[in-house]
Amino acid sequence: MRKPLIAGNWKMHKTINEAVELVSALKRELFDFNQADIVVCPPFTALDNVHEIIMDTNIKLGAQNLFYQKQGAFTGEVSPAMIKDCGCEYAIIGHSERRKYFGETDTMVNKRIQVALEEGFTPIFCVGETLEERENNKTIEVIDIQLKGGLENMKEEDILKIVIAYEPVWAIGTGKTATPRQAEEVHMFIRKWIEEHYSSSCASMLRILYGGSVKAENIKDLMKQENIDGALVGGASLNADAFVSIVKNSSN
Ligand code: PEP
Repeated sequence: MRKPLIAGNWKMHKTINEAVELVSALKRELFDFNQADIVVCPPFTALDNVHEIIMDTNIKLGAQNLFYQKQGAFTGEVSPAMIKDCGCEYAIIGHSERRKYFGETDTMVNKRIQVALEEGFTPIFCVGETLEERENNKTIEVIDIQLKGGLENMKEEDILKIVIAYEPVWAIGTGKTATPRQAEEVHMFIRKWIEEHYSSSCASMLRILYGGSVKAENIKDLMKQENIDGALVGGASLNADAFVSIVKNSSN
């Protein structure tokens, strides 16, 4: 039985004060909730302050990215040690906005996952197709390429520490959610892919999250699908009531 995981990606939202206000509201409602694993991923600037508030709760901290070098002349980047210092246990890697706006390739994603694992983080590895790719029936091909590239040279013991998030790009921030059936088709493909490249026990333990306009109203139907184990939530994670409802609705 895979425990649901709900992660909130706050993207480039929330100053430190705003982040503290949001996470304090989440803490009031979710501090002892244990039917799902809960992760919040604030911007780098608020990590430390958010961590102070959640450290005595079940809510875990994640970063929205990390760089694959440990230190050096890489202006503007943030190292694994830096986010670990702030209390992060998770890191989102390969988000479609990183791929689209910052030119992150499958090779870079692979290096980031490798470093994240070496440093003891749980990577939340994102894959997903664009609308054009879906309309041209390329969804499975695209996911296959992203899995091959992102997971190159990974061993079974690495896969056991990774969470995969399927996020169709056309559903992110658009209000258009993939239907539970559309999402399940790709989740099933990902689980089979892991089974073929690793083992069935590894595949059965892997948590695969869905991301793309998840709300309190659609999480239940998504979670009814056999291969959907939780959600990576963008917009709705910026509102305490909405995120709390998503977490609570994910497990009943
Ligand atoms: C995301 O950013 O990962 C995401 C899924 O965003 P939204 O929920 O706003 O579509």
